[in-house]
Amino acid sequence: MHLELLEIQRRVQARIPFPSFDFNARVLTYHQAAARPLLRFEDIPIELTDLRLVVRQTAEVLRRFDALDEAEFQKVQALGRDAALPSVIGDWYRASAEKPLTASVAAAPGTVRRPGATTVALGDAGTLDQVFTLALRPFLSRCADAVQQRPELTIWQHPYCLLCGGEPDLAVITPAAERHLICSRCGLQWKFEPLTCPFCRNGDRSRITSFATPDGQYRVYACDVCTRYLKAYDGRRAIRPVMPVVDAVATLPLDAAAMQRGYT
Ligand SMILES: [Zn+2]
Ligand SMILES: [Zn+2]
Repeated sequence: MHLELLEIQRRVQARIPFPSFDFNARVLTYHQAAARPLLRFEDIPIELTDLRLVVRQTAEVLRRFDALDEAEFQKVQALGRDAALPSVIGDWYRASAEKPLTASVAAAPGTVRRPGATTVALGDAGTLDQVFTLALRPFLSRCADAVQQRPELTIWQHPYCLLCGGEPDLAVITPAAERHLICSRCGLQWKFEPLTCPFCRNGDRSRITSFATPDGQYRVYACDVCTRYLKAYDGRRAIRPVMPVVDAVATLPLDAAAMQRGYT
């Protein structure tokens, strides 16, 4: 399933134009102080035909692998053709990109308000989240690629993505022993305190449990305050760069180990 989703994204990504948005030390310093991600929905180089295609194809793959039930699948397909798609997905994006600290409280999962007072509700919490995250990924990745090498990235000190406000779902430990978080939505990597929990900012090292796989390739940082955990690819002894999709699948046993210890 992951490989098929990746293939959909790869095909579309090749056609996405180079994004243009203000990115320099002055802009980043302003956003750092405001704790606010800088990529506006309007800045994402979305071509509507491609967006519709990705939404529908993503839903087809998820349905085939039983990640969506038939009713959810039909709703997503209808939304993929709906004239309101850009405004619905724009609202979804802004809910976390502009209010990263309160997004989970402010927006009921699976429900998105669109202008005109209609509410699009989709079955299980997180269904829409999953589809939209996957459908926007090629467009957001293009934005992340455009700035990944820029030295100004170090200005950003927050634990959520400086571009899109996404939470990290993986990290990489660099040869210099820095920990770089990897955004779950756009894939951007940025440096963050190696032993501070990115979810609740607990910085008490005695309340962070860290353990590695026997081969030392991966590591888990689990927080004993909020009980969430983050996996990391240890690049200090690696022969290849981190590959988020591959590494997410390769570390499923680590997820099981972390959950067995009571972390989520
Ligand atoms: Zn991001
Ligand atoms: Zn925590």
